[in-house]
Amino acid sequence: MKDFITEPARNIPVIAETDICIAGGSCTGVFAAIRAARLGAKVLLIERQNCLGGVAVSGLVNIWHTLMDISNKRQIISGLTEEVIDRLYARGALTKQNARSSSYNFNPCELTVLLDRMTAENKVKVMLHTSYSAVVREGDKVKAVIIENKDGRQAIRAKFFIDATGDGDIARDLGISRFVHEYIQPPTAVFHLQGNMDGVSLRELIEAHGKEFGLDDDWGWNTHVAGVQDITMRADNHVFGVRCDRADDLTAAEIEGRRRAMAFVDMVKAYGRSGEHYAMTNLCSYIGIRETVHYDTVFRAIGRDLLLGREYEAPILHGTYPVDIHHQADNGITFRYLDGFEQTIYGKGTRTVNGNWREREGLTGEPAQFYSVPFDILVCRDYRNFTAAGRMINADADAFGALRVMVNLNQLGEAAGTAAALCLDSGCDQRKLNGRLVTAALNRGGSAL
Ligand SMILES: Cc1cc2nc3c(=O)[nH]c(=O)nc-3n(C[C@H](O)[C@H](O)[C@H](O)COP(=O)(O)OP(=O)(O)OC[C@H]3O[C@@H](n4cnc5c(N)ncnc54)[C@H](O)[C@@H]3O)c2cc1C
Repeated sequence: MKDFITEPARNIPVIAETDICIAGGSCTGVFAAIRAARLGAKVLLIERQNCLGGVAVSGLVNIWHTLMDISNKRQIISGLTEEVIDRLYARGALTKQNARSSSYNFNPCELTVLLDRMTAENKVKVMLHTSYSAVVREGDKVKAVIIENKDGRQAIRAKFFIDATGDGDIARDLGISRFVHEYIQPPTAVFHLQGNMDGVSLRELIEAHGKEFGLDDDWGWNTHVAGVQDITMRADNHVFGVRCDRADDLTAAEIEGRRRAMAFVDMVKAYGRSGEHYAMTNLCSYIGIRETVHYDTVFRAIGRDLLLGREYEAPILHGTYPVDIHHQADNGITFRYLDGFEQTIYGKGTRTVNGNWREREGLTGEPAQFYSVPFDILVCRDYRNFTAAGRMINADADAFGALRVMVNLNQLGEAAGTAAALCLDSGCDQRKLNGRLVTAALNRGGSAL
């Protein structure tokens, strides 16, 4: 039987009245804020960490994928993603990698400071160390959110609210219907490693010594950190079987994730290149969460439609990042690309199986050059002045595997901020907003849609 205490009623001071209040300050939330501010809205952004950037900064995940279609001829993503890329590049804080899924590699410390600068330039009011904690609604209208920070519990009134908390904390409290995929993509504690790993086979090390250090038959990936010498970003391990939207699981994932990160360092210290000095120089300030729950909206993205490049009247994002599923069951990863190529890599990278999903399905003709997602994916059925943007996106498991990357969620954030500002202008309910107006406003604001 559950035990309860009744919290005494109390008056909560309203510390701000604003046009748009955004909870969660990853690039999804920041880009929503900047887009709305550029359309003339007064915007307040709350973030529970000490900095903006979300997983890209606090989780040390420093790769954004290509802005081009698969033929590399047409630019399909621009907007604030490109602005940030240009500004980081100008500072030597970003490099371009050319691989099958070409990407931009940045320095997360530089991104932190740039996001501070960009929010200030666009007159977005930012509150750090401030957590969303409850919502106040009246009928189908969200009236206020309750926040907590060093000043205590306070309220913010706004005309429109955007939930960019990743897990959809406001959506949860609003009782919006939610769903969980059968296999949730596992989290990873990323760290920075000093020391040369050239010639060191991680697969062989784990095979020979993994058990000694409590490391699973698992594999991940690593990359350099732009502008930094002798340091690699390591995302080598996963924590399996946890639901990071549950407090106990999240605590367990944090502790196990960093144990694994340090075990990896201990293993390379013991068995890496002889004479090489290895050290962990930075550990994510929280575990990188790939997935928790998803919330229903008017439109659900389906993996097959993405891979076939289905077109929509009112697109709000374009992408090419493949379906990328980190398996829960056998520690493998499957990639499925628009051009048909499919690759599954099993535990430790020991076995790779290549195939072609288009040939398997007997598809002929030209593959799609990119995929799109329509405005309706942001439209919340139940509330007139609320939307959620981020990894809580309404997508089936395959579509989520593709959409979850930051170049896609950045665009989703831009669309959410744009839609919110348009609703303010027209005084309309987001459910009645014409998606084509959002696409047009995104284009005018620099998106390549
Ligand atoms: C290990 C790992 C590797 C990945 N690799 C890549 C990659 O190479 N490239 C790529 O593009 N993507 C990658 N991804 C995916 C991508 O990073 C995430 O899908 C994306 O960052 C999710 O963005 P988001 O805005 O939804 O959430 P988040 O980045 O998690 O941001 C949510 C923000 O909301 C804040 N917040 C949460 N709750 C509250 C609250 N109650 N009050 C106030 N603030 C709150 C958080 O502090 C955070 O700043 C990876 C993810 C992981 C974990």
